[in-house]
Formats: sequence, C-alpha cells, structure tokens
Amino acid sequence: VQPSIPHTTRTTCPYCGVGCGVRATPHPDGRVDIAGDELHPSNFGRLCVKGSALGETLDLDGRLLQPKRRDEGPGSALQAVSWDEALTATAEGFRRIIDTHGPDSVALYVSGQLLTEDYYVANKLMKGYVGSANIDTNSRLCMSSAVAGHKRAFGEDLVPVDYTDLEQTDLIVLVGSNTAWCHPILFQRMTAAREARPNMKLVVIDPRRTATCEMADMHLPVKPGTDVWLFNGLLRFLAREGLTDAKFVDQHTHGMDETLTAAAGEADSVDVARRCGIEHQALLDFYRLFAKTERVITAFSMGVNQSSAGTDKVNSIINCHLLTGRIGRAGMGPFSITGQPNAMGGREVGGLANMLASHMDLDKPAHRELVQGFWQSPSIADKPGLKAVDLFEAIEAGRVKAVWIMATNPVISMPDADQVKRALSKCELVVCSDIVENTDTSAFAHILLPALGWGEKDGTVTNSERRISRQRAFLPAPGEARADWRIISDVAKRMGYDGFDFTGPADIFDEHARLSAHANSAFVADDANPSKGIARRFDIGALTGMSPASFDAMKPVQWPLPADASHTPIRLFSDGRFSHPDGRARFVPTHPRAPVNSADEDFPLLLNSGRVRDQWHTMTRTGKTARLSEHIAESFVDMHPQDALMHGVREGGLARISTKWGAMVARVRHGGGIARGQLFVPIHWTAQFASDARVGALVNPVVDPVSGEPEFKHTPARVDEF
Ligand code: SF4
Repeated sequence: VQPSIPHTTRTTCPYCGVGCGVRATPHPDGRVDIAGDELHPSNFGRLCVKGSALGETLDLDGRLLQPKRRDEGPGSALQAVSWDEALTATAEGFRRIIDTHGPDSVALYVSGQLLTEDYYVANKLMKGYVGSANIDTNSRLCMSSAVAGHKRAFGEDLVPVDYTDLEQTDLIVLVGSNTAWCHPILFQRMTAAREARPNMKLVVIDPRRTATCEMADMHLPVKPGTDVWLFNGLLRFLAREGLTDAKFVDQHTHGMDETLTAAAGEADSVDVARRCGIEHQALLDFYRLFAKTERVITAFSMGVNQSSAGTDKVNSIINCHLLTGRIGRAGMGPFSITGQPNAMGGREVGGLANMLASHMDLDKPAHRELVQGFWQSPSIADKPGLKAVDLFEAIEAGRVKAVWIMATNPVISMPDADQVKRALSKCELVVCSDIVENTDTSAFAHILLPALGWGEKDGTVTNSERRISRQRAFLPAPGEARADWRIISDVAKRMGYDGFDFTGPADIFDEHARLSAHANSAFVADDANPSKGIARRFDIGALTGMSPASFDAMKPVQWPLPADASHTPIRLFSDGRFSHPDGRARFVPTHPRAPVNSADEDFPLLLNSGRVRDQWHTMTRTGKTARLSEHIAESFVDMHPQDALMHGVREGGLARISTKWGAMVARVRHGGGIARGQLFVPIHWTAQFASDARVGALVNPVVDPVSGEPEFKHTPARVDEF
C-alpha cells in the first residue's frame, strides 16, 4: 500500500489585514503543518507567532456542527434540527416580518471574517432583494472612518500605498498603530527595510509608548484625540515653509485655499504642542523632518479611526499629502492599515450599510439603477441602512425585529455591549451563523447555523494593499457545517428570490468581477462631460470568465488590474486622476474637536482598548493553543504606577474598572508605556476572575458623525480595588 503523500495547499492567514500567504499541509493523523508562503508577495514566507500557530487551532472542540433551534427564547435548550428546517424557519421568519413591517424591519450584521463571496451574496440579498440597506459589518468598528475619509478626499474608497512603498520610503509616520504587535509582518518588512537603508526614519505618534516605539527615531506621545490639531498644524507649517506642490495642487486638487484658511486661525505651534501634550521642540522636529523628506508614508490604524473625529483625523492626514503632492508616486502617500483579514474585500462588495457593490454609491440614482439592472433584482435599497451602533439601538427599540448575525460576536465587541444584550433579548428573531456553538451572542439566538471555518472554506480575501488572495480549503467540512454563501443563497431561494443559483465561490467571484467591469464601462471618465461619470478605480474586470480550475489556481493579484490581463500592478493616482466627477482630489477642511466624553471627578481616567500581540478577537481560535498564552495569559489593565497609587490598587492585584456604561475586573499591570491619566485594557478576554471581562461593555457608544465608527479609544473610567 502506498502511504498517502501529504498535499500542501496555499491559502491566506485568517487573522489580520496584512493578509499573509500560508502553506498548510494536513497529515493523516490530523496534524496540520503551517508555513509561510514564500511565493506570496505580501509576506514572502514570513509568518508571525499567531499565523505560525494556526495548525494548533483546528480541532473541533466547541464547534457548532449541526443546525439548532430554540423555540422558547434565551436560556431554553437548543434542539438539533435538519438543515431544511433551519433554513425554512429562517426564511419564513424573515419573510413574515418583512411582509408585516416592511424591509427595514430586518437586518444582517456580518463580519470582516467572511470571505468576499459570502459578503457579496449577503449584500445582494439585502440591498437587491429585501430592498433594505440594513446590512452592516463589524468592520464598521475598525476602519469605516478610513473609508469615509478616502471617499471625501478621493471620491472613492482607495488606498494609494502598497507594501513595497514601505521599502522605498525615507520616512514612515505611524499614527495610532502598534504595528509591531497588531500587524507584525508589516512591521518586520519596515524593520528589514530600515536595516537595508539606514537613513530611513520612523516616527510613532501614539499616546502609549508601545512595542512599536522601540524601533522609532521619534515618539510623540500625544494626548488622546488631538491628532487633528497635530496634522492641521503640520499643514500650516508645510504651507509656510513653501512646501506646497503648486503644480499638483493646481492641476489635481480642489479646496486647498478654503482648507488652509479654515486652519489658519487655529493655533500657533506652541499652542498645538500644548494641546497635544508634547514638547514644542519635539513637535517642530517632527514637522521639519516631514517637511524635508519627499518620500513620506503616513500609515494609520485604529488609534485614528476609532474616534468620534475619526474621519476628520483621516482627512487631516490626507490634506498634508495632497498639499505636498506626495501621493501616487513610489514610497509616499497616506496608508490605512486594516484590522481584519477581509475588511477590504467587504468594502469592495458594499459590505457597509452606506455602500453598494463594486464601490458604487447608494446615494447616486445612476449607481443604484446600474446595480439593480445588473442583478435584475426586484428592488434596490434607496437610502443608507443602519450603521452598527444605530442598528442595535433600533433592535432594542423594536424597529428592527429580526437580525441575522454572521461570524461575529457583538455582545463582546460592540461598545456599550450590555445594550446589545438587551437588544437581542427583545428581538423577535435572532439567527446566528458561526463556527462556535456557545458564544455570548449565540446565547440569544433562536436559530444557529453551522458555518465553515478557516481551512474548510473557499474563496477570496483582500488585504490592506488591495491584494486579492485565495483562501483555500484543505480540510473536509466538519459535521453538517456549510459555506456562508451557500447558507445565504439557500435562505434567499426559500424567501422566493431568484438570482441565487450559485454553484460555488468561482461562480460568485465571476459575477462580482463582471459587475466591476460593467460599472467601469458605464462610468468611464469623460473630460468633456464630467457629470456623466467618474473614473472609478475598483476594477477587477480582467478576472472575469475564470473557470473553477483557474479560480482555484488564481495567484494573489492587486487591483486595479489592467484590461490586458497582464496583471501588472497599476499605481493608483500616478496619472493624477481621482474619482470625483472632475477627476480632482479634495482637500477637506477639518476642525479639531475634543472627544465627546471627557474625564471628570467620578471617572477621572481615560480608557483605551486594543489588541495584544498573540491573541485575536475573542480568542475562539487563538485561545486553543497554550503557547499563544505564554506572552500574556489573562486580562489586564495597564496603568501608570502613580495612578495606581492614587486609586489604591497595586501591580499584580485585581482592580475593578468602571465607566458609566459597565464594569469589569482585570489584573493591574505597569510597564505598557501608559501615560498618567490613561488606562489600556485588551479586547480579547470575555470572562475572568469570576467576573465579566468584556471591555466592550465599558466603552461609550459615541460614534463619528460621518463614518459611524465608535470611539473605542476614549471612555472616562475609574479604577478601584477589587
Ligand atoms: Fe497572519 Fe497578520 Fe500574522 Fe500575517 S501578520 S501571519 S496575516 S496575523
């Protein structure tokens, strides 16, 4: 008998937005060897500690392996049911509520963990068939401010930098990003580039002195929420120093004068430094370094986005790049680093409640007409749907009566997470598609649908540099679990909708690519008639017509793609054309404003939340391997030693952290580079020390007025001995 030869599958890591290529080799005894894919252009074989441990997270403990149903509401027993019964109950429940209360009485809440094909089908169902845009995603919580900022400045959600630019730049400015821990392979690429080109500089702008700062030439520990002061000050400095690229500004932008005028009266650099809480000399050193360095990348992440002024922060950064013309060329530009593996793919198919598929806009009648015509759908949503925080408020208020939650756990991850509990406990129909049976959210589900997990599902994801990569299956479907796209399609068909006869992810991807081609041919740039359309840049038309075999063999590709199928990358904005109707980018006047809730006598400290190096989200995967807990094993609150002394807690002891919205218990730590008056708590742990450990329950549900992204980085809090 020939021993079976292990087969290696090339796939993509399911964790962060770096999107590293992975080689997975399953063995007959159940082991799966994991290695970095040396051919993947995003990581060239490197993997961080989380990615390397993927093979240890693939057991079936805790998996939801068959459909289940609970008739008596939260707390009652779940009964295993057939797929037919579960799908029919979901379809009939949604149909009944829509028929009685209208399309906006139902909603989907999805996830950056979904593959693009799953996202596409979910959006098609809600926006084209149900006729409501009440579909939002947990990506709302991490990068919707970047999306809104891109749309305001560029006319389309476009990230103009790729990872090779990080190796060609002379200055990287990291704003609100602990890249060393949260995007480790990207940070390794930056570190390697600095070793190869020692003159390259790194500046970190972050209230905390994080691990990323250890490599930095300069760390500006700004006060939380002061980024717009800092970058408006930089804009004025650049203009005053004569760094304006007059030709670029004149030919390719609009609104510089108004933006500079709006920023002119704000403050001098001494006042900016005072407001930002940093030394005046340090501020000037940063401004001068930025001014004298042509190749600058300003990379930003959750510290910028997760703010009630997140969109303005993004635009204040982009304004500086537009003024100096430092965009559309090698080694320069503003760069949003996404959190989740497929945050970008979700955006491509209209995964947010205010977007349409293929970067089309819900608020443009011509775009709605085009998408509806392409889908041949009975309707099309004609107004934006409810964004995440508003969605759960509408559920609690009874305006939304049915919600289908896919691949996410909002009872932990949302701000004011206890409100989500209250909402779900009142909701007439809660359906959860997940790979895990018992989650804080599934406790409220009436119907549980078992989904495929990483290694079992098949499709595509898009990472932070707009690179589409394949996630391939290398394990059989466990139990009765099914692909999300198939579950959604089966429910859609039972609701009486055609347009969902997909045979597999290749089929769905082809439709997605055809829609992109169709949209681009309809909305081509027309200099003679700018109102006719825009030069759209989301273009994957060259990927239409792939057979299932070619889809399976598809190599990582970056969009926009040239029409000739050469797959040669096109540098965004190298032609100076942006996606606004006149082809010009927009300066956006931004006005500094303080976070909505400030510290007071009762809640004198400021709570910040985020990731640690070796865990992911709510640890349903990373929690399965002991070695990932060797770095940090339990929930903690990082605080300054003097604050600990003042509040009667000590390092190593337990403390109760309270806000107006909730409370939790965590172990006190020092040494996380935290400034006086601030706290940092990780997002991963859900219950510890015989207590609730959901930091989301403490976070204020304040959102950015443009993007709807919550202010996770700034909640007034207090700490007491536990
Ligand atoms: Fe996975 Fe991100 Fe680590 Fe790459 S850097 S291996 S994508 S977690």
